[in-house]
Amino acid sequence: MSARRIVILGGGTGGTMVANRLRRRLGPEDAEIHVVDRDDRHVYQPGLLFVPFGLAHVDEIVRPRRRQLLPGIVFHEVGVDAVALDREVVRLADGSDLPYDVLVVATGARLQPEETEGLTGPGWNERVFTFYTAPGAEALRRALEWFDGGRLVVNLVDMPIKCPVAPLEFVFLTDWYLHERGIRADTELVFATPLDGAFTKPVASEHLGALLEEKGIELVTEFNAGEVDGTGGVLGSFDGRTLDFDLLVTVPLHGGAPFVERSPGLGDVLGFVPTDPRTLQTPAAANVFALGDATDLPTSKAGSVTHFEAEILSDNVVRHLRGDELVARYDGHANCFVETGFHKALLIDFNYDTEPLPGHYPYAFGLPLLRESRLNHLGKLAFQWIYWHALLPGREIPGIGPTMPAAGKRPPAHA
Ligand SMILES: Cc1cc2nc3c(=O)[nH]c(=O)nc-3n(C[C@H](O)[C@H](O)[C@H](O)COP(=O)(O)OP(=O)(O)OC[C@H]3O[C@@H](n4cnc5c(N)ncnc54)[C@H](O)[C@@H]3O)c2cc1C
Repeated sequence: MSARRIVILGGGTGGTMVANRLRRRLGPEDAEIHVVDRDDRHVYQPGLLFVPFGLAHVDEIVRPRRRQLLPGIVFHEVGVDAVALDREVVRLADGSDLPYDVLVVATGARLQPEETEGLTGPGWNERVFTFYTAPGAEALRRALEWFDGGRLVVNLVDMPIKCPVAPLEFVFLTDWYLHERGIRADTELVFATPLDGAFTKPVASEHLGALLEEKGIELVTEFNAGEVDGTGGVLGSFDGRTLDFDLLVTVPLHGGAPFVERSPGLGDVLGFVPTDPRTLQTPAAANVFALGDATDLPTSKAGSVTHFEAEILSDNVVRHLRGDELVARYDGHANCFVETGFHKALLIDFNYDTEPLPGHYPYAFGLPLLRESRLNHLGKLAFQWIYWHALLPGREIPGIGPTMPAAGKRPPAHA
């Protein structure tokens, strides 16, 4: 039998991990592996958080995509135009067709700042910023250097967003940065969110809300941003409330990749790909799988989630090729280090059924959960090395499995 063709759309976190994991498991006689991405710049996105504070530089967190792929993987630097599910073909932006036996969608989420009235109008990248892109994070670094106090508002427009804790981390680090510069007392810090608390999950929300209060950061809840006046410095919500700002840091609306909308039967109305929460196969076709930010799954859009999914998805692609039954093993496992400033971080670990709880990870004597510690901060910093050298190449990390460990967690009644 000739080699089957696996086409992976997106050469970011998920696409790279899956390609390398499959290359390790399947020889060239079993599978041709193709990765398609529109550019050759792989950004370590968690590093964007540190750029505005001068703690990282953009050139330190970007590497060529093709160099992250193991030998024997074909990289196509071209956009995806659409998928024709009925013909099992990907149409590329250069007009050529790429047929597949198995398709993996890993095209992430796109930012849509233009969807909020006025957001990209006058003041954009002058007093209104986002750190969710490399140019935005760099422009914000320059603005923060000049900032000498006033009212600084951090806002996420709507869920879902990549890394739901990143806006909170940003406001905590801003508090630290302003202290370092001696202008914290001259600054009102505001965190405005569409959620009814600091975070999505009740126990974590309580802990993170208490931290905001401790640091003197005003929390504005159920604020659905609808309009930005970048000249007058006013952020308006759909219910008529307004927040004045001297500097606004926003996390824009997210949607799926536009080609998903151009591919009949692949996506939902937001451009995300409906995906089986346990197997990561899509209902679009038995030979189409999806992972990471591109899916509609009810877990965080996070690199950790993408990594855990990559393990199970790769296994299921191999099973599909062999005609074996898929494993329904993904449990929604997510974990995130949350920088809280002053060289500390806390860690949260959860899945579809269990919200973030106090305790330790991954065992009873591991990293502290939901508690600020220097160890967690060091873990967050070490993560970049682990990302490039272990996760992306598809290596196993001893003691870290794709499903959530229950050992070490304390349920709320005993917290
Ligand atoms: C500021 C910030 C901080 C973060 N911090 C953390 C953190 O601390 N911990 C954590 O776990 N996660 C974090 N994340 C989230 C994490 O980076 C993402 O969840 C993860 O990268 C998702 O992987 P993915 O493969 O789904 O998407 P991506 O890595 O974004 O890859 C998608 C790829 O698809 C390509 N693509 C899209 N459309 C097309 C097209 N039409 N044609 C060709 N190519 C296309 C893109 O170029 C991109 O390379 C953070 C994200 C941000 C923005």
